[in-house]
Amino acid sequence: MRGLSQRVKAMKPSATVAVNARALELKRQGVDLVALTAGEPDFDTPEHVKEAARRALAQGKTKYAPPAGIPELREAVAEKFRRENGLIVRPEETIVTVGGKQALFNLFQAILDPGDEVIVLAPYWVSYPEMVRFAGGVPVEVETRPEEGFVPDPKRVKRAITPRTKALVVNSPNNPTGAVYPEEVLRALAELAQAHDFYLISDEIYEHLIYEGTHFSPGRVAPEHTITVNGAAKAFAMTGWRIGYACGPKEVIKAMADVSSQSTTSPDTIAQWAALEALTNQEASRAFVETAREAYRRRRDLLLEGLARVGLKAVRPQGAFYILMDTTAIAEDEVKAAEKLLEAGVAVVPGTDFAAFGHVRLSYATSEENLRKALERFAQVLQKV
Ligand code: GLU
Repeated sequence: MRGLSQRVKAMKPSATVAVNARALELKRQGVDLVALTAGEPDFDTPEHVKEAARRALAQGKTKYAPPAGIPELREAVAEKFRRENGLIVRPEETIVTVGGKQALFNLFQAILDPGDEVIVLAPYWVSYPEMVRFAGGVPVEVETRPEEGFVPDPKRVKRAITPRTKALVVNSPNNPTGAVYPEEVLRALAELAQAHDFYLISDEIYEHLIYEGTHFSPGRVAPEHTITVNGAAKAFAMTGWRIGYACGPKEVIKAMADVSSQSTTSPDTIAQWAALEALTNQEASRAFVETAREAYRRRRDLLLEGLARVGLKAVRPQGAFYILMDTTAIAEDEVKAAEKLLEAGVAVVPGTDFAAFGHVRLSYATSEENLRKALERFAQVLQKV
């Protein structure tokens, strides 16, 4: 009688979370390790945001919030989508969640019936296919290619559409490739969603971290079909606060909030007041985002130059803070390559669970000093091969 569900047994735990936890544990034990694992800003949360949290605490804002979030924050989220993304959104078409991850999780629970297909563009963030399966859906992979800068080809996406297609997930800027999709590609994908009547799920969590190209929200083209997901984590160095948000058709948003009402009730109330400050104190937040972005840009350039110098191949990322590094020069597969790099003192995430075979993911959300050290260690590994 006892035992675990088939559903949970079929689920792979998150590789990004697991590898990062392992790296942190090794460091705690005193191992000299450069961790390029975490998809997490190394900056501290800006002071104006922390201060808002202190204020909320002092004012006793410590009670449950409504499942879709405090009205003030939903208003600010709607305004953010209008101001920065050109989306016409009312507060009731928004939801605040426990990180962007819960928005996605609830969304798949809300829209998928058993056997429904969701197109995911490979390489993909490790959690999309697992969340789809967990909700009873079937992930359908469509490849993006290094020689095309990992930008999806809408014709290839179109060929994967079937009568069971319920959604397509796009993520630009992309984790793990760093690709920033051009507007015309996003428009073409949004038009496919409209023409074939499926949902377009646009995960825009890295929106503010773009070094080349510009951000475009496909919800502008297909507002009836698009759910736009974002959050405070990456833009405002607020990963641990767990505040994500989304907008989309009212009935979908309502269903997502119902899922919250039976699981988390609501996101953390204090963190919501802090996120409100991040979204509304535009001057202070913009200054923070710009400083962080310039730091990431310098780190990306340093890492790209360094990889080229030691003879490791990588597609130039235009956004987010990841590089997919080709590991064919290091070992026969990406898992063995990641092991060799770990022995040399650099922790990376093997590309396997991203469907990025023959690659590892490097996160450059770390200091330039760490990146230089990692590059030296890569060179040592290559010498031994
Ligand atoms: N999204 C980040 C990453 O890919 C954070 C960890 C996670 O939730 O996957 O590393």
